[in-house]
This record gives sequence, structure tokens and C-alpha cells, in this order.
Amino acid sequence: MEIEKFIESCEEKLADKFKLVDDIAYFNQAKVLDAFNAHKVALRHFNGTTGYGYDDEGRDCLGKLYAAAFGAESGIVSPHIVSGTHALTVALFGLLRPNDTLLCISGMPYDTLRGVIFGEGNGSLKDFGVHFECCDLTDGDFDFDAIAEHLNEKVKVLYIQRSRGYELRDALSCAQIEAACKFVRSIGYNGCIFVDNCYGEFVEKREPSDVGADVVVGSLIKNAGGGLAPSGGYICGKAEYIDLIGKRLTAPSIGLEVGSYAGGYQYFYQGLFMAPHTVAQAVKSSLLIGCAMAELGYKNYPSLDKTPYDITRAIEFGSVEKMVHFIREVQYASPVDGYVTCVPWDMPGYDEKIIMAAGTFVSGASIELSADGPVKPPYIAYFQGGLTYEHGKYALAKILKKLI
Ligand SMILES: *Cc1c(COP(=O)(O)O)cnc(C)c1O
Repeated sequence: MEIEKFIESCEEKLADKFKLVDDIAYFNQAKVLDAFNAHKVALRHFNGTTGYGYDDEGRDCLGKLYAAAFGAESGIVSPHIVSGTHALTVALFGLLRPNDTLLCISGMPYDTLRGVIFGEGNGSLKDFGVHFECCDLTDGDFDFDAIAEHLNEKVKVLYIQRSRGYELRDALSCAQIEAACKFVRSIGYNGCIFVDNCYGEFVEKREPSDVGADVVVGSLIKNAGGGLAPSGGYICGKAEYIDLIGKRLTAPSIGLEVGSYAGGYQYFYQGLFMAPHTVAQAVKSSLLIGCAMAELGYKNYPSLDKTPYDITRAIEFGSVEKMVHFIREVQYASPVDGYVTCVPWDMPGYDEKIIMAAGTFVSGASIELSADGPVKPPYIAYFQGGLTYEHGKYALAKILKKLI
């Protein structure tokens, strides 16, 4: 079949899903605009500051906007947070003390967090005497019996990772996270419920912080920065926790009173404004590629009869050649470095060689069209992003030409 016709037939199959995605985008756009309005955002908020950054209005207001959008009391948004891993690290170190336990209830955390939590001799939480325990998911949902067994008064942070990372499970929905929050509270847990929210922001109408999570954390070069934020991360949640984390972000004596950014904040504000729409473009791109790959017989997740709960799609290739072809075509379809051929590489923080297509305007931004994966059987590529649906569709056409 002609490639254009084939893609058109996928779009027809997805029409109802696309409508749902648009409805969510509108809901979240309204939520974000209400926050801008309530906090009286004005041009002066975009101005940069220098030095200590006392009374940096742009910085403070930005934190309040993200908090409002996520249904949280307080928020930290900083261009100085270098990545999602760094945001999660700052938040965990802000909350945990020697002899506390960190209990993860969504299986093993994302690869780059493992060194943070239980690395040896690298300044990890473990080096500082923080214990780590973990409950696996069963059939893609929380194992409440195991959680009840592991919970005790030493558990100060209960950790949930919403998106799949380099695993084959689907992302957790806010309904699932809500059930977990209710359950642990019902059996007397009164510590911090902490969510790694990477790739989940604005995919649903609610965020984990709307349904019982105390702290949510993510990267601004994924969903939450709308494709415009040039760097940074956010940490939002209960004021008492954000206060503690602020003392770790800077110093215990100064907390969130300081922090300047000479470059100014326009792209951070504009990125949050764009984020609901941009995320919808990425979700639609993911659905289209998922539908096409399924038609061609490639297993991919989340399954198309389920609502997606993050922007990522895992596609199983079963052969290294096909996986590499797929990722290379994503790179060739990119606006930046589109002439470059991807090769597997030893990336810091990962155990296996990773192959990564990221021909992005913001270096490494995976809200932009990108694909990556560790090169090991069964050869799964993780696809995500797309600032515009049209870009996702263009990449798919290239991929189909190569694979058919
Ligand atoms: C991307 C991601 C992170 C953080 O990764 P960075 O590359 O450091 O931004 C953490 N957890 C999950 C689930 C992720 O997808």
C-alpha cells in the first residue's frame, strides 16, 4: 500500500483518540492560563537578574505558576537544575536523613536514579546512610500486600515513578496513583509521597499532586517545559517539603531567597504556556507511530486500546538492525543534525550502550521528536516527543519507507 494512504488509514482509526487528547489539552491549557492570570504575570517577570538574585520576581512567580498548574502549594523551578535526575536528586537529598528508608513501590527506579540511591562511594543516598527498599509492580499495578509489608515508621519517602523508563511496563495513571495514596494513608503512613513525574505532565487532566502525592518532580526539557525551556527542572508540592528541598537546592541557611539567571525567564513562562498543546502533539505522534507499527506487526506499548498515561512509546524490534534503522530514521527526520547517522554509545549513568536520536533545538530535549534505547535483546526503542504532530507524521513516513 502507498505510504500516505496507509498513514491516512491509521489517522482514521485514531480519530476518536485524537479528540480525547484535544479535550485534555484544552482542559490543561485553561488550567495554565488561569494560573498566569491569578499570579498577574507581566513582562517584568521575564527579566533576568544577576548575583544573589534577591527579590527575583521572575523566579518566584515561575515557581508559583508551576505549583498552581499542578495543584500544589509551592514550587521550585530553576534553570540551574541540570536535568530530571538532578531535580529528583535535590528533592530526595532535601527530604531524607541518615537511617531513613526510601521505599519505591513502582519497581526499580529509572537507570540514572540507581547510582543516586544506592551507588557505592559516589556520594549516593546509601553513602549517607539512607536505606532503600523496593516493591515490584504486579501486572502493571501496585502490589498493595507487598507495600503494607514494607511500610514502617522508618519509611520517610514513598517513591513512585509514573513513566516506564527503560522498562516494558505502561505508565501509571493518576487513578492508580490516587489509589496507592489512599491505601498507604489508610494504613497509617504519614511520610512523604513522592512522584517522579517525568513524561507524565499534562497527559491527563489531573497530576499526581492533584490526587494525593506530596511532591512531584520533573524535567523542563521534557513535557513541562513545552519545548521552549532551554534547561531546568521543577519540584512542586507541600510547602513544608518544598522549603526543606529549597535548603538543599541552595544552602540550609538561605533556601529559596536566592538564585539569579541573567538570561531571563521568557522561554520558561512561554514553555509552560505551550506545554499542554505541545504534550498533545507528542501524544498524537506517539499514537500514530504506535498504530502504524502495530499494523506492521511490531509489538508496542502502551497498547492502542488503552489511554496513554505518558508521551513515551516502547516498540519491540527483536533485531538490532531494525531497531537501529528506526532510530536512524528518526534522526534523519530531525530539523537539527538531520544529516547525522546515529551509533550506539556508552552514556554516563547507563550500564549498556545506548543509541539515541535527538536532532533537537534544545540539546537532548525529549519533548522534541526523539528515540532511544539500550542496545540489548529484545531490542526495544523508546520513542517520544514531537513539538508538532506534523513532524511525527513526517518521521513516520521516513521510517515506513525504510522498514517496508
Ligand atoms: C527522563 C527521566 C528521568 C530523568 O532523566 P534526565 O535525563 O536526567 O532528565 C527520570 N525518570 C524518568 C522516568 C525519566 O523518563
